[in-house]
Amino acid sequence: MMPRAILAFALSWTPVAAQAQLCGDTAVPTADGRLLGHFPYGDTPAEDLVAAPPGFALNGCMIRREMLPDLTRLIAAAEGDPAVRGQLRALSCHRGIIRQAGVFCRPRADADAATRAISVAPAGHSEHTTGYAIDFAVRPANGCPDAEACMAATPAARWLIANAPRYGFELSFPGSNGQKVKWEPWHWRWVGTSAAEPGAARARFIFAQARARFPARPAVDGVTILRNFPVWPTVVNAPPFPVCTRKNRKACR
Ligand SMILES: [Zn+2]
Repeated sequence: MMPRAILAFALSWTPVAAQAQLCGDTAVPTADGRLLGHFPYGDTPAEDLVAAPPGFALNGCMIRREMLPDLTRLIAAAEGDPAVRGQLRALSCHRGIIRQAGVFCRPRADADAATRAISVAPAGHSEHTTGYAIDFAVRPANGCPDAEACMAATPAARWLIANAPRYGFELSFPGSNGQKVKWEPWHWRWVGTSAAEPGAARARFIFAQARARFPARPAVDGVTILRNFPVWPTVVNAPPFPVCTRKNRKACR
């Protein structure tokens, strides 16, 4: 049994927002745990990840196991539509915290962390870390680079807007979102078609704050509004990840 003094200390202890190191910059999380606008997310155990359906990934795509049935149905539906058949691919799916650090810190002209955070989440703060997010790509690209706004004008992206919520996917970062993250017509997260679907309750819990405060558009119906947001100590307890600078960028590849 825990000694009374230790128990009292444990009960009185409050996580203190730690200053995060970001590619040589620093940033302090807000009281709700967000770092430069992005909510904290823990990593996904490898045993909870499975490969996306064959032929879907451009460069490998691991997803949460419980997302697979809906993703399989979504891909089949797209394949059944002559307007978009064969066009939807996965650009990026699960990214672990170390990998996300590399993506966030990769050399770019806009080296300032706040600027980077408009289009990429800092490590430990990406929906991709949860295994529930997919960045879609369109093939043939027809001159539109991956992960650019021009994707929104393609038949495949319009098909996603019209159909993805029926398969449990919603657009995390719509245009002019209050989170001040760049409009990302390619980035969809899975929350299940209903809370009763296997795995959906967990996904909805993980994304509860984001869904309630910065709603997806289009969104899956039945958004749960939590009256008391859970405390997110993940910034303090996040696994260590390398501080990526131009000098040690190899550590972040
Ligand atoms: Zn994404």
